Amino acid sequence: MSETKRILVLGGGFAGVECVRKLESYFPNENDVQISLVSEDNFFLFTPMLPQVASGTIETRHIVIPVRTLLKRTKFYEAEVKNIDPYGKTITLSGTKEKRGITLHYDYLVLALGSQTNFFGMDKIEKLAYSMKTLNDAVVIRNRVIDMLEQADNETNPILKKSLLTFVIVGGGFAGIETAGELMDLLHDARKYYPNTEKTDIRVIVLEALPAILPGFNEKLAKFALEKLHERGIEVKVSTKLSSFSGDEVIIEDARPPTEDSAKEPSTVNAIQTRTLIWTAGVTPVDIIKKSVFKTNRGGIVVDEFLQASDFPEVFAIGDCCYIIDPKTNRNLPPTAQNAESEAKIVAKNLRAIITNKDKEKFVYSPRGQMAVIGKRSAIASMFGIHLHGLFAWMIWRVIYLSKIPRLDKKVRIFLDWAIDMFFDRDIARLKVMREKPVEEFKELDEVDDVW
Ligand SMILES: Cc1cc2nc3c(=O)[nH]c(=O)nc-3n(C[C@H](O)[C@H](O)[C@H](O)COP(=O)(O)OP(=O)(O)OC[C@H]3O[C@@H](n4cnc5c(N)ncnc54)[C@H](O)[C@@H]3O)c2cc1C
Repeated sequence: MSETKRILVLGGGFAGVECVRKLESYFPNENDVQISLVSEDNFFLFTPMLPQVASGTIETRHIVIPVRTLLKRTKFYEAEVKNIDPYGKTITLSGTKEKRGITLHYDYLVLALGSQTNFFGMDKIEKLAYSMKTLNDAVVIRNRVIDMLEQADNETNPILKKSLLTFVIVGGGFAGIETAGELMDLLHDARKYYPNTEKTDIRVIVLEALPAILPGFNEKLAKFALEKLHERGIEVKVSTKLSSFSGDEVIIEDARPPTEDSAKEPSTVNAIQTRTLIWTAGVTPVDIIKKSVFKTNRGGIVVDEFLQASDFPEVFAIGDCCYIIDPKTNRNLPPTAQNAESEAKIVAKNLRAIITNKDKEKFVYSPRGQMAVIGKRSAIASMFGIHLHGLFAWMIWRVIYLSKIPRLDKKVRIFLDWAIDMFFDRDIARLKVMREKPVEEFKELDEVDDVW
């Protein structure tokens, strides 16, 4: 190797962190390759446990791991990526009064900026609904649920009381189902401190536009999950879509495709009185990716079998922000942490291959399985062709996901949270979240070039 190559990875999530860690193991020597990572948060968020943070089973900070503690020699920038220029091979980071705007130069770029909640252009719903995507979302939802319990317990109007205690979740994928299960646990466990609140006052409703929940799961497992949810009092309305939300009322509609008979009748429309709508109906790549000059499809960067962006072979895209077709289904791969990590491993290998003049490896999609928790001590799991449900699946979920948490101290803290949850009541303190003032961006003139 002659001159030092500069690899820049954007995004400190599943894909970005895995890629950087692999690169560090391939290039332990600083002189061969400089590795840098940019992410707007200085922590890695373990999203599969977000619903458990919302329900208070796990303490907020236990599912986040400071990125710096995961890196050996990578230079880390906590900053928001403002602009990507693949022609000039530069990245611009936002500047504020405290943080200088920086331009970084690269030889190879890995885009791993993830996704954001997809509201499908429904601006009003975006403004009024809660989402479950970030750590802040989970904390805000937990506070909201506790606040609703507080208000409802002293509410004398029975209709208003019911509406305060009705929670509608849009989306029957694993984020929606796990959120519904966890919220129901929180509501029922907390109820003993709210003497005027009956079990029958509480409603958790899941709306799913498709005819079944948990798409991608084996049909029997999805059916088991549906039965378990019903048993626990969660109402699941399949083939039902949300048509509007006013802040205190959700309007739902039949989402079944019209048949010859049904076409003659008007579609069924119903209203649900609720103050809380949680939107988990899908994700879309982050805006900076959608607005970039790269070729995109459904917002994701179109990549080839080596995960290289078309027209820019020195640029790779992985995780939720890339668009890659599964040859078996002819559809885009699902946005999962599992895929993000597998893609990251291949990109790290391919960067090593390019830098050392070896052959690149193709990315082959080989899912290892799927799991979802559907509430207290029950889960569903499909692994290596085996389908499990109930308590055993739930135990496997815990063992596997605990093993996936990076760093021993976080594993121990989560294990203790779970143990405490088995013996003690949930904490119902509602800590008010302080809203930060929007940051003022610094002027272009104050930006500095990187030191490379
Ligand atoms: C509630 C929930 C539960 C889930 N459960 C599972 C599960 O059980 N199993 C599973 O496989 N998947 C699960 N997923 C999906 C999984 O979280 C994603 O597929 C995975 O996080 C994608 O990894 P990524 O690295 O592409 O994106 P992310 O992990 O989202 O990382 C993107 C990173 O980029 C950073 N970033 C974004 N924009 C900018 C910017 N402009 N400047 C700087 N930094 C930026 C973000 O801060 C973040 O650190 C779940 C998701 C949710 C929301």
